Amino acid sequence: MHPLNFDNRFVRELPGDTDGFKLPRQVHNALWSEVQPTPVADPHLLIHSPEVATLLGWTETDIKHPDFAQVFGGNQLLEGMQPYAACYGGHQFGGWAGQLGDGRAMSLGETVNANGERWELQLKGAGPTPYSRRADGRAVLRSSVREFLCSEAMHHLGIPTTRALSLVATGDGVLRDMFYDGHAAIEPGAIVCRVAPSFIRFGNFELPTSRGDIGLLEQLVDFTIDRDYPELQGDTQAKRGQWFLEICRRTAVMIAHWMRVGFVHGVMNTDNMSILGLTIDYGPYGWLEDYDPMWTPNTTDAQGKRYCYGQQPYIGHWNLARLRDALKPVISDASVLEAGSQLYADTYSATFGEMLAAKFGIRELSDEDAPWINGAFELLHKAEVDMTLFFRNLAEIDLQNPTLEPLHPAFYRDDLRQEHQQAWESWLVQYCQRLQQDELPAAERRARMNAVNPRFVLRNYLAQQAIDQAANGDNGMLQELLEVLRRPYDEQPAKAVFAEKRPEWARHKAGCSMLSCSS
Ligand code: AMP
Ligand code: MG
Repeated sequence: MHPLNFDNRFVRELPGDTDGFKLPRQVHNALWSEVQPTPVADPHLLIHSPEVATLLGWTETDIKHPDFAQVFGGNQLLEGMQPYAACYGGHQFGGWAGQLGDGRAMSLGETVNANGERWELQLKGAGPTPYSRRADGRAVLRSSVREFLCSEAMHHLGIPTTRALSLVATGDGVLRDMFYDGHAAIEPGAIVCRVAPSFIRFGNFELPTSRGDIGLLEQLVDFTIDRDYPELQGDTQAKRGQWFLEICRRTAVMIAHWMRVGFVHGVMNTDNMSILGLTIDYGPYGWLEDYDPMWTPNTTDAQGKRYCYGQQPYIGHWNLARLRDALKPVISDASVLEAGSQLYADTYSATFGEMLAAKFGIRELSDEDAPWINGAFELLHKAEVDMTLFFRNLAEIDLQNPTLEPLHPAFYRDDLRQEHQQAWESWLVQYCQRLQQDELPAAERRARMNAVNPRFVLRNYLAQQAIDQAANGDNGMLQELLEVLRRPYDEQPAKAVFAEKRPEWARHKAGCSMLSCSS
């Protein structure tokens, strides 16, 4: 394989724990621990992302090399790799959880490509680390397929996210109790190699502060600014202030995108919030099918619904407040920290407002639009309408001859469609009047809408079908889904089957409508 250029700044410039001692423990005075992947029985490459390979400077020849599966299955290291697990803490479900750390993620190193871009490579499921607590450091095929596909799908939807290079089956079994109900079973193991400029999370900053280790916090803050935010200018304090504001801004933009496409992360704990504003840690995430702001895919959150779709913008704000608390000791100007909260709120409403306007095909939102827009969401909920199909098909409404016909495929239940027929009809009249005010040519309106309303998202049941097939040794659907999701805004009529609403059998099926954190 073509060698990669590694420049491992995180481990070179920041204090680490190099005991090489794997047993679970509290790690103090260090931001990372030296680790080694634990070898697996029989690694096989199941799928890779050609775009991510290209980012690293690799071609199909490198991917096909027999060493590829060995390296990305954790059996071999490439020259220059220095594996480590990061030490971080986090707030989980609203409470401080103490030290968490990379329990089954291991960074292999930071590559710098021909364009000077830094890409860190990280294996997920390569064995235990000092942060594995009572767990095994492994990952199962189902969760790895989900992480691989969704990372790439999100990227192609234009949403900031970590990427995925490869999905390797390990040939080993992994014991999991999927619903924590005493029914543990052996499942096939797998490893994803994820790729991002940095995997630093809010929780990396929270942990040193919680321990009063302000020196360590300061080192990490200035390192992150220097490596990941080189565009910031001014003295140390000025940079730190701008940095916090930029994190608030990016987080708002990321969450606005989630809301645009109906993505529900499912576990927005502060250890799952990227300092770069990337979507990170794909676990029990899901996509809205019938529009329901209270929906969460995560069974662990079924009661509290803390991380349901509609809560995500508020949770982003809450998480930033935890980051603000963690950074207080190193940012002297308190007003900057408060300004972050306002910037988050303003950025979110401006960004989401623009997205909403584009989704409905109007030039710009005004306060007068609130009633009919709220009316649409209320009806989408009451009448059980598929969010993705509704918005995509909305572009097909013909202003000369408006009917609800194009929207019919988005309804899950005929009885509810009939019950709300009249309300929808009067909504359509209002909507068409509003469109007429803008005088956008029909083709332009449709193009504008189709650029923000995807035809294809990684529907929960599709991911599950690809998983079931892959578990039986058939990668066909996995490959086909990746291919379709590379162009989510294109009509791709030959692939219409992947745009269909959730079939009835999937309504209450495990993996399709409910997911656990078990992975
Ligand atoms: P998550 O909910 O996946 O973000 O994980 C929360 C914490 O648990 C992180 O520190 C993970 O690294 C750790 N963790 C989750 N699953 C495992 C596992 N199978 N083995 C070791 N650590 C794990
Ligand atoms: Mg996590």
